[in-house]
Parts: sequence; structure tokens; C-alpha cells
Amino acid sequence: MNLILMGLPGAGKGTQAEKIVEKYDIPHISTGDMFRSAIKEGTELGKEAKSYMDEGALVPDEVTIGIVRERLSKPDCEKGFLLDGFPRTLDQAEALENLLGDLETSLDHVLHINVPQSKLVERLTGRRVCPECGATYHEQFNPPQTPGKCDHDGASLIQREDDQPETVKNRLEVNLEQAQPLLDFYKGKGYLVTVEGDRDIHDVFTDIDQLLQRLS
Ligand SMILES: [Zn+2]
Repeated sequence: MNLILMGLPGAGKGTQAEKIVEKYDIPHISTGDMFRSAIKEGTELGKEAKSYMDEGALVPDEVTIGIVRERLSKPDCEKGFLLDGFPRTLDQAEALENLLGDLETSLDHVLHINVPQSKLVERLTGRRVCPECGATYHEQFNPPQTPGKCDHDGASLIQREDDQPETVKNRLEVNLEQAQPLLDFYKGKGYLVTVEGDRDIHDVFTDIDQLLQRLS
């Protein structure tokens, strides 16, 4: 079961990823984790990636793809994997196709969790943070007992810069522009499976689960 998970920020990718890897017993491979472990293990590619990151520069594709190759070659990927955050570009998607071919395997499905942008804005702008203890709340989904006050220390909750409506909308636009060519690419290859994500977490997972069982 070789999967890619796609979805805009706020679509609930993290939550669904946890459920998928638990049910199907495959590793969840996020780009961030992959880089961190390559750097920690001190592989040549890890060292190279670190030198770019230390300078605040983008890690070049050949290094990133090398790290993906190392990760997907590990024994825990024999049963499959759930890639999250890679590929980000068409070049990377093509490179992944070649890489999987070299490993004598291929993708099975690209799971896309689709949530209307207006709903994502609602989800992402509702977050409130306690400046004292760092606790996070959500106006709708996880409200504090007293509106606007932290449950632990009563401090007034704040909205972070990142969670302001304009910032959120811009972030979603950028992400969508980046994701659309990939969605088209995978649709063309017949890998794309779209799940409506604007529902209860458990219902979304039930759908994903049924799709995966039916398709496999
Ligand atoms: Zn607090």
C-alpha cells in the first residue's frame, strides 16, 4: 500500500495520517521527519541537507530526492508507506515515479482530503493561544470554559499572526497553486482519490478506509 496524502493546511491531514498508519501498519513519512532523521543519523545526504538548511537556503531537489530514496529503501517500507509533504512539485513527482520504478514498486493511490477554502479559513482562523502557558484552543472545536480566557491560568487568549484571516487566505492560495498541478498529474495517472474532508473526523476516516479496502 504505497500512498501519498494530500490536502491543504487545516484539512485534517495529520489526524487522518495517524489513523491510516495505525490501521494499515505502514510508516507515516513526512518531509520534516525524513530530514530530521537523515541529519540525526549523519548520512552524507543528511549532512548536505543540513548545510543548506543552516544557511536558510532551500534544499535542492537532488538532495531531497536522495533522502526520500534512502527512506523508502528501509525495511519498514516493504509493506508500503504514507508520504506526506512530498512531492511538492511536478519535478519531484516525476522523480518519485522513477525512484519507485528503481525500487521495483509503484504508487497505489494519492489520497486527497478536500475541504472548501471557506471552511479552511474558518478552521484556521479560529485558533487561540494562551500567551502565558502556550495552551491552544479553537473558538468552535475546542473552546475554553470562559470565552477568551485560558482554562489553566485565566490569561487572555490571543490570535497569532499566522492565524489572522489575511495571512491564512494567502497561505491557502499559495498552497493551492502549488498543489493543483500535482493533483492534475496524479489524476491523469489514475492514482487520485478524493475524500470530502468537511465532516466529522471519524466519518472521513471511514470513507478513506472503505476506499482503500475497495481499491486494494
Ligand atoms: Zn494559559
